Parts: sequence; structure tokens; C-alpha cells
Amino acid sequence: MNTSFWSPGLEQLEPYTPGEQPSGKTLIKLNTNENPYPASPQALTLLAQRDFADALRRYPDPESCALRTAIAERYDLSDTQVFVGNGSDEVLALSFYSFFRRAEPLLFPDITYSFYPVYCQLFEIKSRCIPLLEDFSLDIEEFSGAAGGIIIPNPNAPTGRYLSLDRVEALLQLQPERVVIIDEAYIDFGGESATQLIDRYPNLLVIHTLSKSYALAGLRLGFAMGQEHLIEGLLRAKNSFNSYPIDAIAQEVATAAIRDRAWHTDNCGKVVATRRRTEKALLELGFDTIPSTANFILAKPPAPGAEALYHALRERGILVRYFNKPRISDYLRISIGTDDDMDQLIRNCKEILASQS
Ligand code: PMP
Repeated sequence: MNTSFWSPGLEQLEPYTPGEQPSGKTLIKLNTNENPYPASPQALTLLAQRDFADALRRYPDPESCALRTAIAERYDLSDTQVFVGNGSDEVLALSFYSFFRRAEPLLFPDITYSFYPVYCQLFEIKSRCIPLLEDFSLDIEEFSGAAGGIIIPNPNAPTGRYLSLDRVEALLQLQPERVVIIDEAYIDFGGESATQLIDRYPNLLVIHTLSKSYALAGLRLGFAMGQEHLIEGLLRAKNSFNSYPIDAIAQEVATAAIRDRAWHTDNCGKVVATRRRTEKALLELGFDTIPSTANFILAKPPAPGAEALYHALRERGILVRYFNKPRISDYLRISIGTDDDMDQLIRNCKEILASQS
């Protein structure tokens, strides 16, 4: 390919692997941490029954007022403390651009969400990886010193390890002059959200998504919560790119989903119960698992190891994610599906391990 017109650095960016989103319907898809259940019936009924002709004829509300109000009410904030974007990936990109200083390095854990280094590269932000401890937990003290900002996912991805709220607070106090982003994509599966710290910490930005616990990954809706000055910064960045307001349908569907608290609580409960069962079953099969507070489990399988198991499962129509990085070499990340999905996963793992040992 002729890359001579590209900016320096673009060549090093890797395209997203299309193999992670194959179209086959019969597959058991446990590779991208999607929710296995349909979204809130209130959101889906709205989608099926509402006449959107007028809403689509017009441009959408550029400020997503109704949606921001629903989110603000959900987290006991004011509307001006909420920013919405097309998936939390867009919110993250705008936050990197808006808040992280270029002169000092952005700090994040050495095993973390793979997009953070990509955004650093795109926005020419230096970074410093903080090594996780032996048990994959974070050593907060390591986040002191010169920093252009901090970002951590909580629970971490792909380890699933959760950082308690008092530790998050310690992190905020360590770098009071810098923005600290807590990416809570998976917080609803058992963690306590840092949103309750927003009023006390002007440097805190909390980012959520509807892709996981709301079962709306295809809708592309993420949001940031923080004090007004941070939200205003994000609005300025977004408006100056003239970039995508949330589309009219997504605004309405997301609003209905956020308001359906009963469905959300029930759904998270089901996923967590299935995760606990799955963790137990994997341990019984001889996997080494990292305790997870998310909707996935990172685990090291017994011999013949993760790579062989990944391929064998794939041949049987079960997709999981294979990791082979320095601290997590030969690990599988398994998203939590329905109880039936997980029974099939466990049965197939058992057969493959028995046949290959
Ligand atoms: N943060 C983390 C930690 C994630 O794992 C993901 C999804 N892979 C995202 C953010 C982005 O989610 P989305 O863009 O679908 O909202």
C-alpha cells in the first residue's frame, strides 16, 4: 500500500481485527465483552413502536438534553456535569485531547485498555506505564511524581481487577493538579462508582458506556461525568471538531434504557451470578483465574495452554480472546454469556483439555 501521503505514525496504528466481529449467527461470542441479553424492553419497545419520521427529518438535539437529564438524575448530578458521546471511545479520545498535558507523561497501568496507548500516539501525548503488582492489583503510590494526567479503567481491562473507592480517592489526592480519568466501562458488574466523589474532586472525570451493562454496544453511547469546568472543556473540544452529536434515535433509546433501573439491576445480577459460576467451573478445570469484578474473566488455562485452547474453541464455534503479552502471556479473556453459553464453554474446554493432555 502507498502510505507516502500519511502522517508519520499512522503506519504504526493497527486496524481493528475484523475477526473479532464475525457475522455467523451460530457462534457463541465471548470475545468482546458484549452483554448476552437483549437490552431493556422499554428501550427496545420504543425502537420498534415509535414513529421516528419527524425526529429523523430534523437534526438531532445538539445538546442531548433529555438524555443528559436522565443520566444526571441516575447519578445525582446536574445536567451540566454530564457529557455524552458516540461510545465511550469517542468520549475517551476527546478527554485525552482536552485534558492530558503534553509536557509530562500520562500515567496508566502496564496492563490496561489497549486504546490508551493509541490515543497517546494520535494526540502526541507521552506516557509512562506503571507496573501492576504480582496479583495484578495497582500500587497507587507509583502514580506520584511528574505526570500529565492519570487514566485507569476500574475494574481494569483485561484483568477485571477492581480498585476500591478509597484507593481511587488516594489517586485523586496524589495528583490534585492533574485530571484523573476513571474509565468505569465495567463498574456496574460489582464495583462502586467514583461518581459519588465528583463534588469533592475538581480533577475527577468518570467515563461510562451503555455497551456493557446496558446491552447497547451497537447504539454507540458513552458519557463522561465530572465538575462543570471539565464538561465545558469536553463540549468545546467536541464542538470545535464539529463532531457528531448523538443521533436522534440513539438519544431517545438511550434515555429510555437509563431510566429502566429495574431491568439494569436485574441484568447485572444475572451476569454476576453467571460469572461466579463460571469462575468456579474454570478453577475446577485447572485454570488460574484472576478475581473479576467485570463481565469477563482473564484466566490461564492448564496444558496445552491458551493458544491451543483458543484455536480448538474457535473450531467449535466458541470465540474467546487470546492474550500473549509480557505479564499475561498465554491467557484467555472470556466474556460472560448466558448460563447456557457458559455451560457449553465449560463442556467444550473439558473435552478439549482431556483430548489434548
Ligand atoms: N473502556 C474500556 C475499558 C473498554 O473495555 C471499552 C470497550 N472495549 C471501552 C472503554 C469502549 O467502549 P464503547 O466505545 O463501546 O463505549
